[in-house]
Amino acid sequence: MSLITLGLKEAATKLKNKEISAVELTKATLDRIDERNGTINAYNVVCHDVAMKMAEESDKRIASGEAGLIEGVPIGMKDLFCTKGVSTTASSKILSNFVPPYESTVSGKLWNAGGVMMGKTNLDEFAMGSSNETSFTGKVLNPWDTTLTPGGSSGGSSAAVADFMCAGATGTDTGGSIRQPASFTGIVGIKPTYGRCSRYGIVAFASSLDQAGAMTRNVEDAALMLRAMSGHDPLDSTSASNPVEAWDETLNDFDPKGLRIGLPKEYFIEGLDPNIRKAVDDAVKRFTDAGAEVKEISLPHTKYAVPTYYIIAPAEAASNLSRYDGMRFGYRAEGENLAQTYSNSRSEGFGWEVKRRIMVGNYTLSSGYYDAYYIKAQKVRALIAQDFANAYKEVDVIFTPTAPSTAFKLGDKISDPIQMYLNDVFTVATSLAGLPGISVPAGLVEGLPVGLQIIGQAFGEEKLLQVAQAHEKMCGFQMRAPNATATAA
Ligand code: GLN
Repeated sequence: MSLITLGLKEAATKLKNKEISAVELTKATLDRIDERNGTINAYNVVCHDVAMKMAEESDKRIASGEAGLIEGVPIGMKDLFCTKGVSTTASSKILSNFVPPYESTVSGKLWNAGGVMMGKTNLDEFAMGSSNETSFTGKVLNPWDTTLTPGGSSGGSSAAVADFMCAGATGTDTGGSIRQPASFTGIVGIKPTYGRCSRYGIVAFASSLDQAGAMTRNVEDAALMLRAMSGHDPLDSTSASNPVEAWDETLNDFDPKGLRIGLPKEYFIEGLDPNIRKAVDDAVKRFTDAGAEVKEISLPHTKYAVPTYYIIAPAEAASNLSRYDGMRFGYRAEGENLAQTYSNSRSEGFGWEVKRRIMVGNYTLSSGYYDAYYIKAQKVRALIAQDFANAYKEVDVIFTPTAPSTAFKLGDKISDPIQMYLNDVFTVATSLAGLPGISVPAGLVEGLPVGLQIIGQAFGEEKLLQVAQAHEKMCGFQMRAPNATATAA
């Protein structure tokens, strides 16, 4: 039996039943990371000692019958979550020496539930990007084909999960950063409803959009991991008080018969890659064969989603990132006076994409432009949310592609920001509306995984996960990265 290919729930069950120990599972996973990370670059930091210590404690809790929900399971933590005493860089030079004195709520919840931290996963700098190429610590390679991007910004997490370097990893999604990398690497990625997970201790990008979520190799694992991460937090005033349900236990209490699936006509426009279209059509057919109903719907403001997102997200980023000035923490480049020290620290500490966002954001927030750009974008955002609310009067869930293509070549879009931004065309509207979305594997196109995006209703994670689980069963997709054949113990 290969320990590293065990899913999160499968591993948790075997651990609880004492068929395997947390120490042996952790060792096997660390060996896998040592073997593969030099090539894939999924982890910024590998926590050998911390992981072994946490695993020993897990084994003790299992022995004394106090096992948590995911006791002893190897977890990759996106390097955007503050972890007390463990380097947290956001893959930026400006935070390259930052060791947080406190723990983010979500990571703390995962450790309290028994998760074992394998390390901090790579990402686009400050989670700004769609290919993991803007990282200060270098690009991440897709384990399916190392000339391709694993997606972004949670590219280290998606690659680590797909390549068996952990059973599950956290991601954050501001405009698609969980769903698109999941699609590119053949795994499951769920962005819950805005407010489900606390943002406390997550390095902020765009606060009205940022949301943590789970990346795993199957739907059941995503349900369990999300359950361990979610819940109200008094330290984040935007976190919701809706009760957290045992989503992993109700996955199969569902029959696709009568399910109303909406297909937004604006997402299936001419020019959409026919292979991507076919992947969604095949998924719809699986459901209609099982008795679901399908309906064409309209989300008329869809065409404004990308420009709206690329005004709101940079505006919030410009404001959030003003705290990095080289004074109290982070990288400092001394100048001859205070202003020059600020300027040198920021000029040397931020990469190009982050600087572009800060400049765009400060422009749209400045007097004279604020009404024309920022306020206008906020109004359009409300219209986009209203589109979804109208659609949900007629349908239960919405199906769309997750991304317009399968994983693209590293280097292909990085010098053309517009091309890179357009890659987010199917994911940003969900984020602007604050709705939950999941990407599930829907098959292969020319040997590469393609994702189906299922969009749910606010706080409708239970139904969303049930539909995703039904799809997984009917699709029969087996997570297998050709170059990642798992052979370790
Ligand atoms: N690709 C999008 C961006 O660059 C989304 C990133 C994210 O969700 N963190 O802004």
